[in-house]
Amino acid sequence: MKLEEIARQTAQSFKQTYGRSPQWIAAAPGRVNLIGEHTDYNDGFVLPMAIERYTIVAAAPNHTNQVQLRSAQGDQPVTLDLAQPLAPFPKGAWANYPAGVVAGFLARGLKPGGLDVMIHSTVPLGGGLSSSAALEVATATMLELATGQTLDPVEKALLCQKAEHDYAGMPCGIMDQFISVMGKANHLLLLDCRTRKTELVPMSDPSVAVLIINTNVKHELTGSEYPTRRKQCEAAAKALDVRSLRDASPELLEQNKSKLDPIVHRRARHVIGEIERTTHAAAGVRAGNWPTVGQLMYASHRALQDDYEVSCQELDAVVAIAQDIGVAGGVFGCRMTGGGFGGCCVALVQAAAVDAISKRIATEYQQRTGIEPTIFVSRPGQGATVLKS
Ligand code: ADP
Ligand code: MG
Repeated sequence: MKLEEIARQTAQSFKQTYGRSPQWIAAAPGRVNLIGEHTDYNDGFVLPMAIERYTIVAAAPNHTNQVQLRSAQGDQPVTLDLAQPLAPFPKGAWANYPAGVVAGFLARGLKPGGLDVMIHSTVPLGGGLSSSAALEVATATMLELATGQTLDPVEKALLCQKAEHDYAGMPCGIMDQFISVMGKANHLLLLDCRTRKTELVPMSDPSVAVLIINTNVKHELTGSEYPTRRKQCEAAAKALDVRSLRDASPELLEQNKSKLDPIVHRRARHVIGEIERTTHAAAGVRAGNWPTVGQLMYASHRALQDDYEVSCQELDAVVAIAQDIGVAGGVFGCRMTGGGFGGCCVALVQAAAVDAISKRIATEYQQRTGIEPTIFVSRPGQGATVLKS
């Protein structure tokens, strides 16, 4: 669905609910990370793109001191009383994301006044495509209109990240909010998680597209996997005598192999290699060298599977099918994307072959796993945008 079309629907349901037209409409996209996995907390690089799936926030002043929040995808409408300090809702409540963003504006002395708000989204919720950041950033973009104050893009992304930390209780990195704020159509975003510097990488060749394949599984693990990986990375950095794995080279790692526990060594090998693969992939995209980018994606997947051990049978099945299709069938590369143990794969494909590739992956994945995947295609989409001001 086109952005303007979702915006029109959101405006319509705003009108049905509140009996008048919205004064402001803002949108922000979900995202997929092309390469650079488990690099963010090691001060490394990530290379995400905005997808053509958006969260739309429509609003109008209501001349009270309250913000009414409704979402077509959220269960309960909620009311924020601006006369009181905004406390988080119970954990898991959808309204924590927008409430945290409102609180971030208030903390900066930016007062939106009472508002009626209606939210719609085409980003799948909880599917690893960051509907949460899309909701935060769309809310922030609407609040820029309501307060008449435009935030610096970095400050805006950090405000949204803080909302997710403090209100939703999710200690996320900076990638999701940065790409949702700063994404640009026909571009990827190379983000340095140490310096927070960003660089738009053109990907305007219309003959390539990105396929997102949701395995539709999420393996429940002990919950200690993520903190354990982080500790192993810290242990590796300490043993290598560097501030973080960003500062280590493959040579340094191999020279010091005997000092490291074998598991810690493999974890570090993934991270150090992945940081390098990410900058190489950005160069490959810039040069339009799709087979090279594809090979880097496969290498990323293998490292995540064997060294970092965060893949699973279903993600591996998708990558194996993609590899079978091969460049001859229009697939340049494929890898798991996101934290792992389920969720989505991302594939770089020939745009003209999208339908055939999607059909074959769907059929073979179902044969191998008994599960129906969800597949959709996207070109690099537009970051946060104003549709009515
Ligand atoms: P992801 O960001 O990968 O989609 P998260 O668990 O981080 O998954 O965020 C999903 C949660 O964000 C949902 O369960 C819901 O609480 C909230 N959310 C996101 N988008 C919306 C929306 N449009 N309406 C209501 N709640 C939303
Ligand atoms: Mg999220």
